[in-house]
Amino acid sequence: TDFGFSKVKEADKEKQVKAVFDQVAPKYDLMNDVLSFGMHRLWKQYAIDRAEIQPGMKVLDIAGGTGDMSLLVQKKLSGTGEVWLSDINHEMLKIGDERLKNAGYHPYVLTCDAEYLPFPDGYFDVLIVSFGLRNMTHKDRALREMQRVLKPGGRLMVLEFSKPVALMRPFYDFYSFKVMPFLSAKIAGHSENYRYLAESIRMHPDQKTLAKIMREAGFERVEWKNLTFGITALHIGYKN
Ligand code: SAM
Repeated sequence: TDFGFSKVKEADKEKQVKAVFDQVAPKYDLMNDVLSFGMHRLWKQYAIDRAEIQPGMKVLDIAGGTGDMSLLVQKKLSGTGEVWLSDINHEMLKIGDERLKNAGYHPYVLTCDAEYLPFPDGYFDVLIVSFGLRNMTHKDRALREMQRVLKPGGRLMVLEFSKPVALMRPFYDFYSFKVMPFLSAKIAGHSENYRYLAESIRMHPDQKTLAKIMREAGFERVEWKNLTFGITALHIGYKN
């Protein structure tokens, strides 16, 4: 037995994730552009194009934060179907809600933990988790929930930092452990949060392991595509 220590660690992680996103929320969009040199926009657009969203579909943006993915989905649906922007963090959602309204869209906005999705079985055609999965304490539980709320024939898109190809790694390590904390301290004023970012990326399962975890949660025909030398990967899983 671990005398309950793992529970304490889990509670700590949840608190830490909340504190990080409470603090970064106001500068989140700016920091994404700066730290990824704008590349996150290309990765997100690629994921949305691969989602094959058709008019009338119901789409859930999980850990949707400030709403980047929901915005792109809304454009594809052009007023039809349903878009649900969800996140566990109210501060991030508030910004997302406002951005979408300013762009003339009215998605459903919902505060919820991805490990407990308040939807009936088989409700959604497409699920999207963009840079959210690595923050979840029980990825297996969250993925099983996603599998449950997905319609047979539907697909899950997981966009997440991943393991870069070997040649890239020295540059990547230097960038994420030296340059990134420096830049974020300069711009956002708290490098600690971005150290969390670098560490959470390192802890996250690599491409192959994530595919396995998705299969274990019930997804079929799981495939992935490396983006920018595997700095990011898009995993797609289907429900039969
Ligand atoms: N999807 C957005 C994007 O791609 O820009 C935001 C990604 S942001 C890096 C990660 C988000 O995951 C945060 O808004 C955080 O609140 C959310 N998050 C963390 N744990 C979560 C959980 N268990 N359930 C739902 N959202 C969660």
